[in-house]
Amino acid sequence: MDSVGVAAAAPDAGPGPAWQSKCPWGAPSTTSISCSLADVMSEQLAKELQLEEENAAFPEVVAAAEGPFITGENIDTSSDLMLAQMLQMEFDREYDAQLRREEKKINGDSKVSISFENYRKVHPYDSDSSEDEVDWQDTRHDPYRADKPTTTPRRGFIGKGKDITTKHDEVVCGRKNTARMENFAPEFQVGDGIGMDLKLSNQVFNALKQHAYSEERRSARLHEKKEHSTAEKAVDPKTRLLLYKMVNSGMLETITGCISTGKESVVFHAYGGKSATEDKVIPPECAIKVFKTTLNEFKNRDKYIKDDYRFKDRFSKLNPRKIIRMWAEKEMHNLTRMQNAGIPCPQVVILKKHVLVMSFIGQDQVPAPKLKDVTLSSEDMKKAYYQILNMMQQLYRECNLVHADLSEYNMLWHDGKVWLIDVSQSVEPTHPHGLEFLFRDCRNVSQFFQKGGVAEALNERELFNAVSGLNITADNEVDFQAEIEALEKMNEDHVQNHGKKLSTFSSDGDPPIYDE
Ligand code: ADP
Ligand code: MN
Repeated sequence: MDSVGVAAAAPDAGPGPAWQSKCPWGAPSTTSISCSLADVMSEQLAKELQLEEENAAFPEVVAAAEGPFITGENIDTSSDLMLAQMLQMEFDREYDAQLRREEKKINGDSKVSISFENYRKVHPYDSDSSEDEVDWQDTRHDPYRADKPTTTPRRGFIGKGKDITTKHDEVVCGRKNTARMENFAPEFQVGDGIGMDLKLSNQVFNALKQHAYSEERRSARLHEKKEHSTAEKAVDPKTRLLLYKMVNSGMLETITGCISTGKESVVFHAYGGKSATEDKVIPPECAIKVFKTTLNEFKNRDKYIKDDYRFKDRFSKLNPRKIIRMWAEKEMHNLTRMQNAGIPCPQVVILKKHVLVMSFIGQDQVPAPKLKDVTLSSEDMKKAYYQILNMMQQLYRECNLVHADLSEYNMLWHDGKVWLIDVSQSVEPTHPHGLEFLFRDCRNVSQFFQKGGVAEALNERELFNAVSGLNITADNEVDFQAEIEALEKMNEDHVQNHGKKLSTFSSDGDPPIYDE
């Protein structure tokens, strides 16, 4: 790599710049870099430091060629290349981050700056950091629209006599070319021409256009590849890397295989390893829930999280990728609440980005069956029903949660009892749609047990009242639903007017207290 020119120009007395670092696989440099106040305040730097910290939590073992990923027994050498590529990817990203820091340091506040862009390893279109930024289309108004350049009418000229201007006029053409740059792909950086009377010659414009198109095609190809591999291997390379790290760090012994692929998540089974910290014990068997980073499926789940006041402030500032991490985070918090209340549910082991590791419900790699798939004796069926009634009450009263996707699909039968899973969408009862979600849960549970022959099973309205402690008296579905919505609206109005929630819905069987 020829970097003499730039290196010589750099008035840098600090440690050697990143491009001089030797072998990519060499020991990571631990030299600390002194930083200016500007650096300390820099958001960019903060992000990078966080990244480094996250990575430090999972020390990189480069020589992991024999590391068991899918199974510990068959050493799958085909994944060596994949692993190498992923580590290279990680390295490139770190290298670029370092490069950016040095670029910043060298340039300081100077008006003239040196760009290290060409030394970056990751193509700007693939760069990770761009994914964390808000899409520019959302934030940048279209600066070229403000003053439209003069266009020549159909007839090809304007003006009269010697003031005539044809469409071949250099100035008009130049302005027009500048304006036409807006047709380039949004990621194509055409520079900041706002407020300038930019006139691109046809030659320059055509060259730019050509470049923009080929870059666009290149980018499309790359994305296609990425997406394809997601479909093929169930998880994308970045997720694989996260999983590798968990195995390499010894936290997990082996990831044995996939238990379930849903629309929104993929669940793997793993044997637990050793925790880095003494006080934490990794369960012998773990379930790894990977929230899918393909965004489409999550769009219709907005309403769960957008209206959840716990996440409200954060929601508006987030891009879809972060929102998916938030689903995982939500599942973790909700599971912890349930665990604390003593509800049988998976125990959280660790959360890394969109990957949640929890204890495995089942044994010897065989997951516990869903309630919909087991045939229970009528005695067990009745037992399960009362247990669920109890759990729903605990969930509501002690955890202050409504499951919001409760059905025989998300309840497992294990060890002679029912375990609740899949709580990423669970909300608090005062969520604007919380009571509607609860009613839907009640309907599912009622119907399942009534069909299952449990004579004691309450109907959905009775169950709703029994769980919530509300006393809605409507004796038909429609009126009942209407009352639920009226309650929700009352609560929302209260929030609007008073900026706070009502003293939640009563938890001791009395009607709710509304202090109006
Ligand atoms: P989804 O949103 O895809 O429905 P779930 O959390 O319901 O996600 O998980 C999907 C499936 O994976 C479950 O139906 C269950 O069979 C299995 N599963 C999930 N978590 C565990 C766990 N902790 N132990 C055993 N199996 C699990
Ligand atoms: Mn589920």
